Formats: sequence, structure tokens, C-alpha cells
Amino acid sequence: MNKKTDIKGLTSAETISFIQSLNEKPFRAKQIRQWVFDRGISDFSEMTNLSKTFRERLADTANVTELEEADRKVSSDGSIKFLFRLHDGKTIESVWMPEENRATLCVSTQVGCKLACGFCMTGEGGFERQLSTAEIVDQLIQARKLVPGGRVTNIVFMGMGEPLDNYDNVLQALKVLTEPDCGLMGARKITLSTAGVVPGILLLAKDFSKIKLAVSLNAADDATRNKLMPINKKHPIAELFWALKKWPLPKGRLLTLEYVLIAGINDSDDDAKKLSKLCSDMPVKINLIPYNSASGAQYKSPSKKRVDTFMKIASGRGLIVLPRASRGQDIMAACGQLRGKRS
Ligand code: SF4
Repeated sequence: MNKKTDIKGLTSAETISFIQSLNEKPFRAKQIRQWVFDRGISDFSEMTNLSKTFRERLADTANVTELEEADRKVSSDGSIKFLFRLHDGKTIESVWMPEENRATLCVSTQVGCKLACGFCMTGEGGFERQLSTAEIVDQLIQARKLVPGGRVTNIVFMGMGEPLDNYDNVLQALKVLTEPDCGLMGARKITLSTAGVVPGILLLAKDFSKIKLAVSLNAADDATRNKLMPINKKHPIAELFWALKKWPLPKGRLLTLEYVLIAGINDSDDDAKKLSKLCSDMPVKINLIPYNSASGAQYKSPSKKRVDTFMKIASGRGLIVLPRASRGQDIMAACGQLRGKRS
């Protein structure tokens, strides 16, 4: 049996081609896309402005991925962590983080992750499989149905998995999400965060640099970064920064470097000085995130005083450093705490 075409993984032009391959008029594509993306309908039989015969034809040749909400946890800070079940029973997490002026959805791109960063629970569980484009896109569509007022103003690719290790499906998801006809999200409202997959950064710079890029840096020297993030052995800091310099950054914009501050590992005065020196000729801002010691975690959170001192030293040397509180700490939804069913 031929594999069915997943409408949620198609751009507007691809949907038109698909509809034409079924000998239907192109405007039918727009009708289907309105059902799928605007109204969140996944069952062709509910698409009542299409003929019964066409709906049956669609059901034979196409499908519309729909994630199932398996669980949710609500944090005292208002964040919600959703556990979504995929068609094969595997689970992923997405986190919704409301603020006064925005509401950001953190989406997953893989079930598990290959990169095994030392401070991350997703990495601890190993890799299971890539998410399809539709599974990535549907996290937004489902979240909009589930959160108060359907309010999602921004997306960060920062959940389970390394987005650039699932390059083709993530690139296609970026295209689908930003298609003007379904109006899901503007490109400037999307941030993709990578652990430093250099070939992926170079490809994305050519293929889709309209979004914002963030890099999970976490150390300013290779010895420390090698310990925290094994990918650094493959793509050391100098190579990573060489690639970042090739990112076509619009004038006046900054790249984001995330720095999870871990007690006794990367939080010394010397680390702050090294970080300022490393970034001295880069258009970057640092998101400084104190590490969360979750139960069983091998690292410790830094003291408030240490965080303040680190910030003072780095910003005193000209670096833009923004303190970031991890959201949803009480529901294990903070950075590095997502782990799907294993939680
Ligand atoms: S921090 Fe990101 S890249 Fe590293 S193991 Fe966790 S999910 Fe993978």
C-alpha cells in the first residue's frame, strides 16, 4: 500500500500539486488547508464544503496527523507542560510559557536525543526516532486548542531533541509554519536553538535564515564544553563561532547564546572573563540560565550570589547578559528537564 500524504506536512504549493494529482481544482487546496490549519480539523469527513466523493478519495490517499494529549502539568508560574502521544505510542513534551507580552511554545523535534549533553534529561534517555514535519507542526495546532485563549505568539525549537539533527523535517516544518496562507507563525517569532551542529547551521543559513538562531553554549573553553556537551569534540568552539559568523544576521540584531550556569563547573569569575573574551567580536547576547538541580541530577544549581557576580563580571566587560529564570521548574518543564514518558 502506498504511503499516505500527510496534509499537515505540506506547504501551500505542495498541497495544490497534491490536489491536482487527484484531478481536483487548485482552490480545493485552500479549503482543505483552512480546515486543517485554521480550524484544527483532522477528519476529512468533517470537511463539509468538499464533495462526499472527494472526501472519500482524500481519506484513501491522505491523512492529517493529530497528536493526542496524554497528560498535562500546570506550573505555579502559569506554564503548562503537555505530554503528547504519537501514532506509534511514543511520547514527546511541549511547554507553553505565558508572559505579559507574549506566550511562547517550546516544541520538540525528536523522540529523545543523540547528543547526550550532561545536564539534560532528554539526552540521558538516548535517541528513539525523528519527528515528522507534521508531528512538529501539530504541537502548535494542538497547543492552540488547549491553552487559554489559544494564545501562542512565539515558538522556540528548544524542546526534546536537537533540531539540526532532524534537518529536513525541521526545515519543512519552518516552511509550513510560516506559510502566509495558514498564518500560523511569522518567521521572526520563531527561534531555533542548537547545541552546535555546525553543518546544520551552515545549511540553515542558506535555506532559512529568516528565523532567529540561538546556540546552547554553556562553556567558554573546549575542555569544559567537551565535558558538558560531547558534540563539542566534533565541532569545537572555534569551528562553532566560525559558522556563527556566517549566519546572515539582519542589521542591529543579535544571536542568542544560552549559558546554563552550573555550580562549580562553569560559573567561576574566570569563566565569566573567558566568556566575555570569546564573545568580544561577536554580535551576541547571553541568556544566563541558572541550572535546576532536578532529583537525581548530577550537577548543582549556583547560588544567587554567584549568578549575580558572574553577570556583573561579564556585563562589566561589555557583554550583553540577560538573566533568565527557567520556567515550569515545579513541573519538570525547565530547560534540560524534558524527558517524555520516562519522567
Ligand atoms: S540539551 Fe538538547 S541537544 Fe543536548 S541532549 Fe538535551 S535535547 Fe539533546
